[in-house]
Amino acid sequence: MSKSYRLAYEETFACVQCGYCLPKCPTYETTGVETQSPRGRINLVKLLAEEKISIDSAASSIELCLGCRACETACPTNVQYGTILQSAKELITKEMPSSKMELLLLEKGLPNKKWQKAAGRGLEIAQKTGMVSLARKAGIMRVFPESIQAMESIAPMIKMPKKKERKYRVLPPIGKKTYTVGFFVGCIMDMMFSKINDDSMKLLQLAGYEVTLIEEQTCCGALLHHSGKKRETIALAKKNIAVFEKYDFDFIINSIGGCGAMLVEYPELFDEHSEWHSRAEKFALRCKDISVLLAESSLPFTKEIRKVVAYQPSCHLRHVQKVIDEPHQLIKKIPGIDYRTFEKQDMCCGSAGIYNVVHYNEAMEVLDQKMTHIEKVEPDIIVTSNPGCHLQMKLGVEREGKTEKIKVVHIVELLAEACEIY
Ligand code: SF4
Ligand code: SF4
Repeated sequence: MSKSYRLAYEETFACVQCGYCLPKCPTYETTGVETQSPRGRINLVKLLAEEKISIDSAASSIELCLGCRACETACPTNVQYGTILQSAKELITKEMPSSKMELLLLEKGLPNKKWQKAAGRGLEIAQKTGMVSLARKAGIMRVFPESIQAMESIAPMIKMPKKKERKYRVLPPIGKKTYTVGFFVGCIMDMMFSKINDDSMKLLQLAGYEVTLIEEQTCCGALLHHSGKKRETIALAKKNIAVFEKYDFDFIINSIGGCGAMLVEYPELFDEHSEWHSRAEKFALRCKDISVLLAESSLPFTKEIRKVVAYQPSCHLRHVQKVIDEPHQLIKKIPGIDYRTFEKQDMCCGSAGIYNVVHYNEAMEVLDQKMTHIEKVEPDIIVTSNPGCHLQMKLGVEREGKTEKIKVVHIVELLAEACEIY
């Protein structure tokens, strides 16, 4: 085993093997196998660090972990499962390199704005000109793996933001100014769901915040980090920290559960005594999910929405950022809404970054379980708070043949409708 990689061995001893985390783990729920549980994975990392097992024998269990961190929330002894998992992922990535395509996408595509724009515009044109539906009708999509076909079938119509819309801009508050906030747009979010970013900024203005958009921000690095690529993640983190610290914002706001979790965990990328660690801490303290700020303010809801609503929380919003109550509070405040909770609401939907593409079958098992619970409350609308969960829920609704009956929206879209922002 490479000595340059340190497994989080000491952290594994905090696990007292009680098993409280097991019922919260989606992969344990679908497989019933100990090695696909948090406790099992912690034991594997311990054995790996003691060089009692090979990397090969632990790799599939680690790779099939969704990284949802529900086990951390459930654990009575505060086991740092995220740190343990991350250390194992970094080791596996070092010893068992990923495919060239994955490397190309993760290392070159995500952090590169030109690539993102080119890919987004290409897709936008293909959708608008009907090339995508033509390819579907001609059966061309069948040459792609099932996972890609499934994702293509639920991809939203892309509407890339115009260049001037993502230039440096200061958007004034409506009414009395409370705080100044910088807005973090994300990369996939701004390509696939740019309208949600636009609506987010309008809602913040409506709630009394001065919103500033800065161009130099980049990808948060979450997908790279989940793939064990620490060096590349650090480079992106440094760029974001440096560009946002040029401004004196009270908060840095995002509407993306997964990216937000990465931003608040930036300090963990750096040595505790380094200058970058303290800069990352200052940055992370200012990062908040949009629901936290909006729940504190009084949004002017002018439209009733007489619908049954279920909310699927983003794991990284709930278990990493610990934002639990605010989205519920906001949804319940909307006039007319019949808000219903459901069994195992806090369990992952199986999206988990690119897990649903890389481990399609396992992700669909988790998703199908989730849908059986959601359907019992017969929602008209499923609300999410992360683009990955949003697409996964759309796929779940489609798999159940309910696209006509159930709509999937981001919480910002629901709030914007209730405030009549269009
Ligand atoms: S992170 Fe999620 S999938 Fe992984 S062990 Fe914990 S609960 Fe299970
Ligand atoms: S991770 Fe926590 S909850 Fe799970 S078995 Fe270990 S101590 Fe118990």
